[in-house]
Amino acid sequence: MSDDSLKEAQEVLRRVFGHPGFRGLQASVIAEVMAGRPALAVLPTGGGKSVCYQIPALLRPGLGLVVSPLIALMADQVAGLVQAGVAAARLDSLTYPEARAATWARIEAGTLDLLYVSPEGLLQPWMLERLSQVPLSVIAIDEAHCVSQWGHDFRPEYRQLGQLAGLFPGVPRLAVTATADARTRRDIREGLHLGEAREFVASFDRPELALSAERKAGTGRRRVLELAKARRDRPGVIYAGSRDGTEALAAELCAAGLPAMAYHAGLDRDLRERRLAEFLASDAAVMVATIAFGMGVDKPDVRYVIHADPPASIEAYWQEVGRAGRDGEPAEGITLYGAADMAWALRRLDGQALSDEVRAVQVRKVRQLYALLDGGACRTAAVRRYFGEEGVADCGRCDNCLNPPKGADLTLQAQKVLSAAQRLNGRYGRGRLVEHLLGKTREPSAFEAGLSTFGVGAELSAGDWRGLIDQLIFDGLLREDPNEGRPLIGLGDAEAVRAVYRGERRVEGRLSQGRPPGSG
Ligand code: ADP
Ligand code: ZN
Repeated sequence: MSDDSLKEAQEVLRRVFGHPGFRGLQASVIAEVMAGRPALAVLPTGGGKSVCYQIPALLRPGLGLVVSPLIALMADQVAGLVQAGVAAARLDSLTYPEARAATWARIEAGTLDLLYVSPEGLLQPWMLERLSQVPLSVIAIDEAHCVSQWGHDFRPEYRQLGQLAGLFPGVPRLAVTATADARTRRDIREGLHLGEAREFVASFDRPELALSAERKAGTGRRRVLELAKARRDRPGVIYAGSRDGTEALAAELCAAGLPAMAYHAGLDRDLRERRLAEFLASDAAVMVATIAFGMGVDKPDVRYVIHADPPASIEAYWQEVGRAGRDGEPAEGITLYGAADMAWALRRLDGQALSDEVRAVQVRKVRQLYALLDGGACRTAAVRRYFGEEGVADCGRCDNCLNPPKGADLTLQAQKVLSAAQRLNGRYGRGRLVEHLLGKTREPSAFEAGLSTFGVGAELSAGDWRGLIDQLIFDGLLREDPNEGRPLIGLGDAEAVRAVYRGERRVEGRLSQGRPPGSG
């Protein structure tokens, strides 16, 4: 961006949005869009994705189109913009006919700067036709990861947004999302026809956030009370897996003298709004909530998030703990989890009508979450690596950094897994790799049976090998290539792998039966 247009953009940021300066990658993303080029921006939740398209929409001639899947968030955003004096409106299934007509009049008079639409609304042929008569400044596609059928949020209509490339040539399109590992980024690029669009991937680090996780005893209810009581007089959010769970926990916290409230989708709207307002205004309240709580809630001084029940995925985990410490002051994310939770999450997938491929990806996501929670590696670094960040250092703040867990020394076993993965050259998935280590492959090829790693792993159970493989994936020593839903295991970071081979890097892990035989 030229100095002049940067100044102009900064001026709009100050005058319209009230922020003193750009954060992170905002200025770079805006420069790309201002230059009329397509772009993909991956910024963490709360990272300020909206101004990346709002400012170009205000500065470039024409109407800025924002495609968003969440009507509730759309309504919030538009209300905020209108309050800030921006000519913004939305068209969705909840808009009244008179309001629609008025909005179209403004669109066609060229007096509207920003229009929010749902994907299915936009994709109606008459809508596209009518919009093709109007000069557009930018097309922003929010929550772009919804295009990926591998994720939790897949929305089939997002697949069709690719046609916008052909329908509106010359209009810069900006895809934004908070969650995009390398695979999802590829899906977004392909699904939205972004071609050679530049990618802007922000660091996912949250230096103010200290993460920890604990295996829970029983329901974990007592531990949650203990944790919350120790954080009395600070605002916090406690996530529970069920509506009943939130009610029960809130009641127990109240009995212990904490200003706690339950929040879930089963409460009537008035009560929910009252509780939300009370929470936002309070500097000590505890919100005990299902994940219905959070979308669009912006309370900067949440000091802790406790997961009384674990989140659904690493994406959900980061988003939920990420609601703490938005003001940049120290905050905590504490997760309680148990083997039963994982079994439940896997069983739940069994009950869903999913293709084999999608199911395999979802199963892997559950495993990865629990490998993270149960693993001994730096939690922050593991999450950041998961989101595709490279060259990530340990955080020095999480429980594992501060108190490295003492597991069994599995360096030798890690060496076995790594050399097996190396010899098999990324051709096998987890199950086959374990069979190979155990020497239990049915009818192995002469090549496989002849490898020195075939059958070297009798000392661990299949379950422990799997756990170790998951851990090595998290530590970046192994890499899992999704391979259309049949993941294959290959070597990860070459430098780190060499360090393990040479014995310079030890690998510790937990086993179901204590320590491996022969390890002293
Ligand atoms: P996202 O959509 O990435 O989660 P938003 O666009 O809603 O994030 O922005 C999150 C918060 O950060 C909002 O309160 C917004 O006003 C604020 N924000 C955005 N950009 C800046 C900035 N440059 N400086 C300070 N605050 C900002
Ligand atoms: Zn750490």
